[in-house]
Amino acid sequence: MDTDSYRRDFPALDRTVYGKPLIYLDNTATSQTPSCVVEAIRHAYYHSKANVHRGVHALSQEMTLLQEEARERVRGFINAADTAEIIFTRGTTEAINLVASSYGRLIPDGSEIIVSVMEHHADIVPWQLIGRGVTLKVIPMDDSGVLDLDAYRRLFSDKTAMVAVTHVSNVLGTVNPVEEITAVAHEHGVPVLIDGAQAVSHCAVDVRAIGCDFYVFSSHKMYGPTGVGVLYGRRELLEKMPPYQGGGEMIGHVTFEHTTFAELPFKFEAGTPDFVDIAAFRRAIDYVSSIGYDNIEAHERALLDYATERMTGEIPGLRIFGTAPGKDAIISFLIGDSHPYDVGMLLDKQGVAVRTGHHCAQPLMQRLGVEGIVRASFALYNTRSEVDAFISALSRAASMLA
Ligand code: PMP
Repeated sequence: MDTDSYRRDFPALDRTVYGKPLIYLDNTATSQTPSCVVEAIRHAYYHSKANVHRGVHALSQEMTLLQEEARERVRGFINAADTAEIIFTRGTTEAINLVASSYGRLIPDGSEIIVSVMEHHADIVPWQLIGRGVTLKVIPMDDSGVLDLDAYRRLFSDKTAMVAVTHVSNVLGTVNPVEEITAVAHEHGVPVLIDGAQAVSHCAVDVRAIGCDFYVFSSHKMYGPTGVGVLYGRRELLEKMPPYQGGGEMIGHVTFEHTTFAELPFKFEAGTPDFVDIAAFRRAIDYVSSIGYDNIEAHERALLDYATERMTGEIPGLRIFGTAPGKDAIISFLIGDSHPYDVGMLLDKQGVAVRTGHHCAQPLMQRLGVEGIVRASFALYNTRSEVDAFISALSRAASMLA
């Protein structure tokens, strides 16, 4: 893969931080954005900005077409059967909240939701907000970060109403066997939501091959604009679900006495959508598709293996969290007793951007017996020489903290 040529598509990578070249290893939190996506945003603001689905005039029709073409692109990208099953949201978080609050109204009091110990707070708290005695049952994992599927099978009861599991852990990098997880749930007649926030930037996703009922992800983690996410839902379930928010766009007919609702997907898209960013998201999908996930995965895996080997060999007192086979290009670690924040600060001063803290996964931190962790994560534009610079910076930080 010609990383150097792809790097030129990301102007942000050229900047310096404290006089040092930026080495951006916080890709799990958000990735940088290629010029083609920024250009699509600029073009929409300069030439086509008009509210969608509401105008007979040319600009509105143009913008509507751009938005609906993006929806069709997303459908193809995840191999959904029907564009009506693609709902635009603000992000993964809003997509899960939509399902929890809408589908949540259809489940009995005292239902049980199965989640895993490695979930992001976005896949924990929305289920808790259902209230009405709904509780979480938690799939445990082993010390390498692999989910215990035997324990998972034992969690089902006649109260189980949903399984909600992450495709890829944002801390451990574990790629969960979502096909098997879904098949087991379906044997019990239970629907499945997969949190794909960390999967879509690393691997091709086929929702029909997975068989899941809902799949959610954010554009900003896969080289797209902020403010856009996707809820894929199987039509049959979305049809049964009540609207999440009320307002313009989601209605059929309104009177003061009674309102009917629009067809899918609009029933779940109240108000003006983020149409400029949705249109630009399409460019991000085209961009990653043109590079190809085989190339991206191979490149990131090579960086992961190289970085892991060098860190393990050269950084005294290093502990890596998450060693599941086939894990994604995410390295979470601690050095001796050093506070993750101190490690992150010392790396930052050398131009290296990593993330520190609980990574919105406090129950996982508790399972790992730590307060927080340092996380370095790789994207298609990172290079071997950046890994070298990261290891040098880390060695320096480690010796300062020793
Ligand atoms: N789930 C996972 C696994 C994540 O990594 C994140 C983002 N860190 C989210 C959900 C939430 O995504 P967003 O903030 O884009 O809604």
